[in-house]
Amino acid sequence: MSKRISPAQRSTAAPRLALRKPGPRSGRSGRGLSTAEIQEIFRRFAEANPEPKGELEHSNPFTLVVAVVLSAQATDAGVNKATRALFQKADTPQKMLALGEDAVREHIKSIGLFRAKAKNVILLSDKLIREFGGVVPQDRDALETLPGVGRKTANVVMNVAFGAPTMAVDTHVLRVSNRIGLSAGKTPLAVEADLLAKVPAEYGVRAHHWLILHGRYVCKARKPSCPTCLIRDICRFPDKTL
Ligand code: SF4
Repeated sequence: MSKRISPAQRSTAAPRLALRKPGPRSGRSGRGLSTAEIQEIFRRFAEANPEPKGELEHSNPFTLVVAVVLSAQATDAGVNKATRALFQKADTPQKMLALGEDAVREHIKSIGLFRAKAKNVILLSDKLIREFGGVVPQDRDALETLPGVGRKTANVVMNVAFGAPTMAVDTHVLRVSNRIGLSAGKTPLAVEADLLAKVPAEYGVRAHHWLILHGRYVCKARKPSCPTCLIRDICRFPDKTL
């Protein structure tokens, strides 16, 4: 379903944070990671998983927005379980509005914060119809005006639905970036800025997927699987597991 945007559109969709320039090719960045090492990290991710995909099920940009809004403080598997039936009934803002808040709440009641999320799903559907002709906008500022949509959600939508090289920083991306040495940033915004500056352009669209998947399945919060990690020789984490 992913609709690709042209390079011209992509440049207009690029986040404002993309202001910092990467260091010199032979330079050092992060905790001593050289540009060559960063290149090698993403080369290995690309070799192991050339087409990384997000795990939230969706059929168009609208269902993607809804799924990402529902995923706050919930697992992708839990969201998918709830949205399969919901999206069969409502895969457009018009159908969602017609379904109504009570029915949406009933569909998603297994997800945390479901009352507030049901309300936001209806409000954002209404706003999409009233202000955007029922079409999900590709622009960050416009996306962030939708109820329940913050910077991370906007980044995911711009990336997954429209192919923009954004870095959606969740808890996995933040932790993995810190450990590897890609960023010492302690906030999502700081890590996003570092990633935008350091990730080689050729990997820009896929990078956040690799980092999320790496954090979810390998570089786990409590016990990272360092012995089997494909970048353990480059990673700067001082407490690698044996
Ligand atoms: S070596 Fe360990 S800490 Fe470093 S990225 Fe791999 S799993 Fe994470």
